[in-house]
Amino acid sequence: MSRVEELLRPEIRRMENYQVQPVSGEKLDANESPFSLPAGLKEKLIGWLTEEEDLRVYPDTDCIELREALAEKYGLQKENVLCAVGSDQLIDYLSRAFLSEGDRILVPEPSFSMYSLSAVVNHGEAVAFPLGEDFAYPVETILERCASVRPKILYLCTPNNPTGNVIPEADLRRLIREAGCIVALDEAYGEFCGEDHTAWIQEFPHLVILKTFSKAYGLAGIRTGYALGSEEIICALDKVRAPYNLGTLSQKIALWALRQPEYEAEIHQVVSERDRMYAALQKYNDTHGFSIYPSSANFFLMRFGRENPGQALLDADFLVRAYGGKMRRFVRVTVGRPDQNDRLLRQIVKMIEEDEA
Ligand SMILES: *Cc1c(COP(=O)(O)O)cnc(C)c1O
Repeated sequence: MSRVEELLRPEIRRMENYQVQPVSGEKLDANESPFSLPAGLKEKLIGWLTEEEDLRVYPDTDCIELREALAEKYGLQKENVLCAVGSDQLIDYLSRAFLSEGDRILVPEPSFSMYSLSAVVNHGEAVAFPLGEDFAYPVETILERCASVRPKILYLCTPNNPTGNVIPEADLRRLIREAGCIVALDEAYGEFCGEDHTAWIQEFPHLVILKTFSKAYGLAGIRTGYALGSEEIICALDKVRAPYNLGTLSQKIALWALRQPEYEAEIHQVVSERDRMYAALQKYNDTHGFSIYPSSANFFLMRFGRENPGQALLDADFLVRAYGGKMRRFVRVTVGRPDQNDRLLRQIVKMIEEDEA
């Protein structure tokens, strides 16, 4: 073992580096928006750079304007909002603020890997509960696990990544009411299902809702996410926040995007493409081992008869999210532009037919 390795924390030594596939072909692997940057934004950017914005100086550390605009959008106060470098950073802040050595978080499986990763990095431990049939959240099981595992944080993701299903409203309410710990509700894809639980912030001081500009707003490149929660929870997260965490341009762009009405139409178009694709593929369910799962987000989970279906898709020039282990017959595919979706549909049908053997 090298000296560096010897000095490294053992749990970090055991971790794999986060891998992202090299981009090739149609990029449908990361649930990004299929729409290009609005023309108006490009003009704005040039204007900011030439006239007002001085990138020599640090950004507004408290993101006042952006937080005020977000608070107004959701009928909250700016004290209920915290901005960060993607919701990824907020997940890290949750771990930093709430986990002491050996503390546990409870996470769904399969779901977003960042919850467990951030717990481990912050000296905690992640305990997973398996999703039920068709990936439904098993309410009774989760509440039993909350009582036995005594997690500091329960993560709920709705619509869930990578399965696309939402947690029914009554189940969600019951989970939040009875969990007995911090409940982090990840709504990265909330805009695509039209549900909004921000009003519950007033009712549940232990609830924190995570949202992002990376998906529905098509701005993954500015790495901007935000948390909505009680003043108490936001104040706790703010204590562990790095000063000046969010850059000047990210703040400006997010604020601008929030005021553009055209995102509604874009979301509508993604949703209608999603429903068109589901209708086209659903008729193949149970054919040669294929299933497509209904989705309330901007992506689909599909199961194939073969192992590693991601490779055949990559060979056909579609970069998708593939999995190992128990999920080795599954892929997650982002809803793209209509022309991409048409070509993808043809490729998927071809694969289902090949799987007949
Ligand atoms: C994409 C995604 C996010 C957003 O991450 P950012 O860091 O804001 O880009 C959060 N949660 C889930 C489940 C996601 O899929």
